[in-house]
Amino acid sequence: MLLFFIVEVSYFATIINSKIFCAIDVEFVFRIKQEVYCVAKKTKLRVFCTDLSSLINLFLEFKMEDTIKKIAEQVEKNDKENKDEPKSGSQTPSPSLAEIPSVKIRIETDENYQKVAETIIQNFKEKETGREISAPYEVPHFPIEKNESRKIIQRQLSSKAHLELLEKQSYDKALSDEDVVDQKVPLYDKLFVPDFQRVTVGGEHCSGVPLEDLQQASSILQQALKLRQKYMTYAIQSFPAITARFLKPKERHWSSSSTEISKNEDQEGLKKIEESAHREVPVTQPPTVQDPWQSDSVQDMNCEFHMNLGVYYGVWVRDPEEPQQLQFPYPSFEEFVTDLHLMGAMIADGPLKSFCYRRLTYLSSKYQLHVLLNELRELAAQKTVPHRDFYNTRKVDTHVHAASCMNQKHLLRFIKKSMKVHSDDVVQVKNGKTRTLKEVFEDLNINTYDLSVDMLDVHADRNTFHRFDKFNAKYNPVGESSLREIYLKTDNYVRGKYFAAILKEVFSDLEESKYQNAEPRLSIYGRQKNEWDRLAQWTVSHNMYSDNVRYLIQTPRIYDVFRSNNLVQNFQQILENIFLPLFEVTAKPSSHPELHLFLRYVTGFDSVDDESKPENPSFDKDVNPPLQWTDKENPPYSYYLYYMFANICVLNHFRKSRGLNTFVLRPHCGEAGAIQHLISGFLLSENISHGLQLRKVPVLQYLYYLAQVGIAMSPLSNNSLFLNYHRNPLPEYLSRGLNVSLSTDDPLQFHFTKEPLIEEYSIAAQVLKLSSCDMCELSRNSVLMSGFPDKWKRYWLGPNYTKEGVAGNDIHRTNVPDIRVSYRYETLIEELSTISYSSLLQS
Ligand SMILES: [Zn+2]
Repeated sequence: MLLFFIVEVSYFATIINSKIFCAIDVEFVFRIKQEVYCVAKKTKLRVFCTDLSSLINLFLEFKMEDTIKKIAEQVEKNDKENKDEPKSGSQTPSPSLAEIPSVKIRIETDENYQKVAETIIQNFKEKETGREISAPYEVPHFPIEKNESRKIIQRQLSSKAHLELLEKQSYDKALSDEDVVDQKVPLYDKLFVPDFQRVTVGGEHCSGVPLEDLQQASSILQQALKLRQKYMTYAIQSFPAITARFLKPKERHWSSSSTEISKNEDQEGLKKIEESAHREVPVTQPPTVQDPWQSDSVQDMNCEFHMNLGVYYGVWVRDPEEPQQLQFPYPSFEEFVTDLHLMGAMIADGPLKSFCYRRLTYLSSKYQLHVLLNELRELAAQKTVPHRDFYNTRKVDTHVHAASCMNQKHLLRFIKKSMKVHSDDVVQVKNGKTRTLKEVFEDLNINTYDLSVDMLDVHADRNTFHRFDKFNAKYNPVGESSLREIYLKTDNYVRGKYFAAILKEVFSDLEESKYQNAEPRLSIYGRQKNEWDRLAQWTVSHNMYSDNVRYLIQTPRIYDVFRSNNLVQNFQQILENIFLPLFEVTAKPSSHPELHLFLRYVTGFDSVDDESKPENPSFDKDVNPPLQWTDKENPPYSYYLYYMFANICVLNHFRKSRGLNTFVLRPHCGEAGAIQHLISGFLLSENISHGLQLRKVPVLQYLYYLAQVGIAMSPLSNNSLFLNYHRNPLPEYLSRGLNVSLSTDDPLQFHFTKEPLIEEYSIAAQVLKLSSCDMCELSRNSVLMSGFPDKWKRYWLGPNYTKEGVAGNDIHRTNVPDIRVSYRYETLIEELSTISYSSLLQS
């Protein structure tokens, strides 16, 4: 029953423990022995009588700190008065009593309420009077008592809240099968919970901050995660199911049928798993593609494409009389800017910063304990697996630039060989005159014998630290851009012949190693529309396919260079050059036949350049759209990223509707420069490269953790450019459970050996003291975040690799102990529960 009436009081005291009253305008709360009182302000009160739990919630809305302080003051005051006044036997009054006035009740709704209310107040007065006489010793006399009583109130409130949560969870569990996660894990997944030493924290809500701060923090974090989820859905990119489940609004299903179904599914799943799991499941190796450039039967579709405010839309001209606009969703620029600003405000929130910092520190410490307790078990688990070890677990180089994916010695050998074998090849036109390879080297005054790695001078060194310009110059062998043009470009006088040859040597090394794979990044600059076709012709004519390789397309952010050389007039032209061919080939494969074939092996886009270049990272909705962006200044990072994202959104939906593969956005992000880059990365990209700056922004780092955003890290590259190796945040990220992998970035500049990826792992293992389990976890992560096809991932990681937690791990293939996977999974659930816990309380 809910009572509602208005009381006029000067002060109003009520008993909480007797589960009757709760006043809205509470002045302070105090406790005497078993009873808790609240005193209202001198005001006209609206009084609701409900049950105790809603009262607790109400109290949480008032500042506990203040309230308790006031109680303490009140009690102290009473103490003093008691001391001053000579005590006479049973004469010590309860502190509140003097202030309880007579209460006038004006009935608003029902006469019955008056009676109820009067009875309540009568009871209350009787109780108080009774105590006044019979219990004089109940007034606290000593500070320790005051402290104790303060603690008790707090404990009571929070334990009550906790109990309520548990109650609610079990209630939800009974009603819904789509709810709180740890209850939701299907039966067969629970069977796989390995036995290990778990690190747990007991007591109350365990977040280490006041409940009020936790509620505030969790609502912001959930909002931020929902934003990312929204953008991932827009672009058909992935968002972890586990995080999504915690963000789902709680729905209660009253029908019991859903539970029945899920039980049956559990039974079936259990059977299946019993049959198959934790044995070597015969997932056979996908057959090697015999003819990677075989054409398929995608029909042409007559479409026109136009750009509206920097984003393409298509018009399907099935009937020339009635052109039909293709409607594909994407977020508007205004929406993006609003979200960007919102995120900016969120990460600047002081209490949230402290909260996230605490959680991250807790995650690190928890991991240290986990390793301390379970290291030997993990190692033992790895030892029991026959055949598998770190060397033969699959790993993917998730971030490597094609133009620098060979090491310097390899390039040197290749150049020397070409000077011997192809010296008469015409490789260049200079001043209208063709030149052979021999002539080029004669001009440079270099002969085969003299040429050395030192002379090649492509390796990064001390001088490149914080000098991206100097680093970029290292791409030119012997400091000559003509040699870069001849050997490291796909589009040159020899039609990229040498580049293809050297890349194929790299690919064959990968194939030979069998367990190493790479996702080299090829450039599309957006200077001309035919760049795509020329790149595709290069890949097809040189048969640049390997089972161990999938491509990413990198688009450099160099509008300013093109603009100042008058190659483009506005930013939109770059977008047109990058995206129009992709829309055309999706609609009409026969218009760009090679591009259609090449795109099968392209998994996504990268945006690349020096992030430390000065820019104005914050902009608003009024910023010029791409067509009006005509000035010589380069647009900011987030501007670039949004327009790539928006076009990828539309393109993906279009390609999906045509039954073609879709693309993801995997930009360089947070290597240096402004924090805004990481916000845009969080909203827009499937995973990022570098992420070094996350170490400075706890809120974003925690969000990257909760959303398990992949981060391809290259500590050796950072060591030469932006951050000394011993300061690299990789070990910190790994310990906290961020989804990190190791990658090489530019073996030509940073590595010495024939296996740069292994070199990267090896140095990380030695310097950062990574265990074999850590290394295998990193390689598993690299496969998961890579763009390789599902069938390969199933073969490499196990048939159930998409499942959550231990059920998704197959130690026989990954060499990652179930203990580690389980630890990561349980920890993530714990974090997600912590932040969704308080919203449960609110609801
Ligand atoms: Zn890079």
